[in-house]
Amino acid sequence: MKSAWLLVVALAATALAVSARSQGLDYGRIEITTDQIAPNLYMLSGSAGLDPSHQDAAGGRIGVLAGPDGVLMVDAQYAELGDKVLAAIRRISSAPIRFLVNTHIHRDHTAGNAKFAKLGATIFAREELRLGMSGAARSLNGNPAPASDPAAIPVVTYGMGEPVRLHLNGEVVDLVPIRAAHTGGDTMIRFEHANAIMIGDYYRNFGYPFIDINNGGSLKGMLEALDFTMKAAGPDTRLVPGHGTIIKRADLIPYRDMIFAIQGKVQQLIAQGKTQQDVLAAHVTSAYDASVPGGLLPAGAGTSADRFVTEVYQELKGGGR
Ligand SMILES: [Zn+2]
Repeated sequence: MKSAWLLVVALAATALAVSARSQGLDYGRIEITTDQIAPNLYMLSGSAGLDPSHQDAAGGRIGVLAGPDGVLMVDAQYAELGDKVLAAIRRISSAPIRFLVNTHIHRDHTAGNAKFAKLGATIFAREELRLGMSGAARSLNGNPAPASDPAAIPVVTYGMGEPVRLHLNGEVVDLVPIRAAHTGGDTMIRFEHANAIMIGDYYRNFGYPFIDINNGGSLKGMLEALDFTMKAAGPDTRLVPGHGTIIKRADLIPYRDMIFAIQGKVQQLIAQGKTQQDVLAAHVTSAYDASVPGGLLPAGAGTSADRFVTEVYQELKGGGR
C-alpha cells in the first residue's frame, strides 16, 4: 500500500508540473480501469496522475451493477469521459443502462449524467441535489455548476426518510440518504449481497476531508455520517469511496479520530481569539501530514489541509450547523 501511494505521489508531482503547463485536464489521456469487486459489481476509475484535483484517479469512481435485469450505475464521471465510461460498461455488459444514482452533486460525479439519461437511464438522487443542479441552490465555489443539459437532472428524488430500495440482478440496492456531510445532498449506496457500500466523498483517503459548506455540507454531518457508516457496515464490508482506496469499517476510526483532534485544536485557537489566518498559520494538521497522502497538494485556494481547516474554522466560528 505504502509503495503504491509513493508511486501515486510521484505521478502526482509529475502531473502537477504538466498541468501547470497545459492549464487544464487532458481528458484524451485518461483511461478507465475496471475492478470487479463482487460477481456482478464493478468499480470504474480514471487514470492516476492526470487530474490536478484528483491525483490518485481522475474524476470520481463509478459503480456498475450488471446482469440480465439491466445495468445500474453509481455516479457518472466527467462528461468528457462519457464515451470511455460507456465503453468500459459495454465490456462488462450489453444490457440496457436502466438506473443511475448520484452520490452527490460535484461534477466529477454528475457531469456525465446527461449522456446516460439519453441512453435511457433514470437518474435517482436526493432532492437537494436536484435543486442544486436546477440552479436553485447556491454554488459559490464553482464546483457543482448548474446542469448545462436538462437531461442531467435527476428524475426520481428522495429526502431524509427511509432508504430507496431497488431489486435487480439478484441484488438489493439501498439508496441511503446521509444528512449534510460532504454536501447537503449525499447518498450512500449499499449493495446488500455484495457486502459493499459506496460512500461517495464524505470519506477520503487521498487529501484531507472535504466539507463543501457552500453546497450544504457540514462538519457535524460528516461526523454523523462516519458514525452511521460504522453502524451500517459489517467488519468485512467493503467501503468504496468516490476517490482513493477501498477500505473497511475499522479504517473509519482513525479517520474520525483525526477529525476530532483537528476540530479540538481549532476550537482551542478560536477560544484564544485567533483569526482564520492565525489558525491556518498554526498548521494544526502537522501531526497527520505525513500519513495523509495528497494532504498538502493544492485544493481550492490553498492545500487540501488548508481547505479542511478553513471549513472546520468557519463552522465552529459560526456556532455549527
Ligand atoms: Zn465531491
